[in-house]
Amino acid sequence: MIDTTKTLKPGLYVTATPIGNLGDITYRAVETLKAADLVLCEDTRQTAKLCAAYGIETPRAPYHEHNAARVRPEIMKKLKGGAAICLVTDAGTPLISDPGYKLVREAAGEGVDVFPIPGPCAAIAALSAAGAPSDAFFFAGFPPSKSGAREKALTALKETYGTLVFYETGQRLAASLAAMAEAFGDRAAVVARELTKLHEEFRRGSLRDLADHYAASPPKGEIVILVHPPEPAQADEGALDAYLTDALQSLSVKDAAREAASALGVPKRQAYERALELKEGT
Ligand code: SAM
Repeated sequence: MIDTTKTLKPGLYVTATPIGNLGDITYRAVETLKAADLVLCEDTRQTAKLCAAYGIETPRAPYHEHNAARVRPEIMKKLKGGAAICLVTDAGTPLISDPGYKLVREAAGEGVDVFPIPGPCAAIAALSAAGAPSDAFFFAGFPPSKSGAREKALTALKETYGTLVFYETGQRLAASLAAMAEAFGDRAAVVARELTKLHEEFRRGSLRDLADHYAASPPKGEIVILVHPPEPAQADEGALDAYLTDALQSLSVKDAAREAASALGVPKRQAYERALELKEGT
């Protein structure tokens, strides 16, 4: 139930809003937006649509990259004076490739309470349904648009452990995918487009296949790219067998596998499974 009579503790409420489907907003976000003294918006016209849909009548003011430095002192004054202020952006979670970092840093630095009101984020929505490994990931935001800077930034991510998550525009998608194939090799990847909207699409393939596909038909809409992590090194089977056969003369399966994994730089599971097979004579 939404409690519209609720009063808020003073502080800055970093409030997530939908990334497409207007229904994707939490009860708590609506409640907080209603109860706040002020809503800071990346674009007041965009937020007006959300407020109209949910009957939110709280005053709104712009806070975006062009006015942030100028209006921040006034916002800080209000916060220190005990106001409860929401920060929203056009879509998703503020600060995630969106304005807000300097305000949060300053507020937290000056002892103002900062509360997250969590909700949609395109990177997390994409990761949750892409089928790419999700136990570890690195959010890299938008790749640089100029090719030299992009190549350098991507090369720096080559060894990063975990799935790489990027934001990209339709216009630059094919070029970015091709640059990723150059930097990372032809890894598996997923393009997640128009999440939560009518034309939502997940396209899975290798970076080169995806680059070719989107070069031939440049996509419309908003996009997240996910690049699978590097494959763990697979040992040369002959070398692994030779090492294990020798080690199994004097060690248990577990110890032989551990030593082989460490000596040959192969995954422990691979070494253990092979050691078991050798021990059982298969
Ligand atoms: N703060 C937002 C968030 O939490 O996801 C991101 C804002 S950033 C300025 C906008 C970029 O996010 C888009 O260019 C796109 O890469 C990605 N994005 C936002 N909404 C999306 C959606 N519905 N589907 C796919 N990507 C989306």
